[in-house]
Amino acid sequence: MNAAIPLTQRLSGKVALITGGASGIGASTAKLFVKHGAKVIVTDVQDQLGRSVCKEIGPEETVFYDHCDVTCDSDVQNAVDTAISKYGKLDIMFSNAGISGEVDSEILLSDNTNFKRVFDVNAYGAFLAAKHAARVMIPAKTGCIIFTSSVASVVSGEISHAYVASKHAVVGLANNLCVELGQYGLRVNCVSPFGVPTPMLQKGVGIMEKRKVEELVSSAANLKGAALEAEDIAEAALYLGSDDSKYVSGINLVVDGGYSITNPSLGMVLKSHSS
Ligand code: NAD
Repeated sequence: MNAAIPLTQRLSGKVALITGGASGIGASTAKLFVKHGAKVIVTDVQDQLGRSVCKEIGPEETVFYDHCDVTCDSDVQNAVDTAISKYGKLDIMFSNAGISGEVDSEILLSDNTNFKRVFDVNAYGAFLAAKHAARVMIPAKTGCIIFTSSVASVVSGEISHAYVASKHAVVGLANNLCVELGQYGLRVNCVSPFGVPTPMLQKGVGIMEKRKVEELVSSAANLKGAALEAEDIAEAALYLGSDDSKYVSGINLVVDGGYSITNPSLGMVLKSHSS
């Protein structure tokens, strides 16, 4: 038996499109989706990387790269149409492309152009992905849309205003779509990761060594003894994309080991006061 093939292929017969699929969470998800029997269109703006990621995952009959800048309506339209012409349908739209933008966290120092750019990719890009997915999913009366938001949608004060606001916008969009699209049998959810050592986070913290970033994130984490990896977010996307979650819609699945429900500051002050 091939150990790479899971006993149950949870996406057997399904077709998925992943934006921002050339790297990090998107690339891991493409790999896991294919392992679970899906046919996958990987899209990104990093064409060379995207093509080589697909080549590593499997043959073109199973996984295919297409250039798609999520801020460009015709690119997203073409990517969805390519999914249909190549694989016949679209069951899962994983709207995952995102940028962190500049790290400016003070409003008076925040750059206006950066704010617009972050919104363009993270929020407008998600809107276009949903719009074109819905265009083909509504008539089919089946499908699901998954967005990558962030722990920044539930924790404030740690990252730039542009990023935090854009990821809140994604959750708002998902919730509104969930209400509109439920009547057609479509499910809409978010997955919200804590820090994952991908190129985005590595660049953001200015440390390119993956191991060091992993250690940094783990030191701040609530859950000890495990390190969050892109594969863990892929597993959450697999759950939301498969029929295992057939009645799950309108949730923001926060994958953060409990980080967002902790606030140790008062406890720490009281502890240091009493010792
Ligand atoms: P990553 O940089 O490895 O991957 C992001 C991908 O998006 C890249 O391949 C990039 O080329 C692509 N992309 C950027 N702009 C694009 C555009 N205009 N059109 C199409 N593709 C574009 O980073 P990642 O961590 O895998 O990020 C994936 C998602 O996860 C993002 O939405 C990010 O905001 C979110 N996220 C990441 C973390 C983390 O700590 N890494 C935490 C929370 C949320």
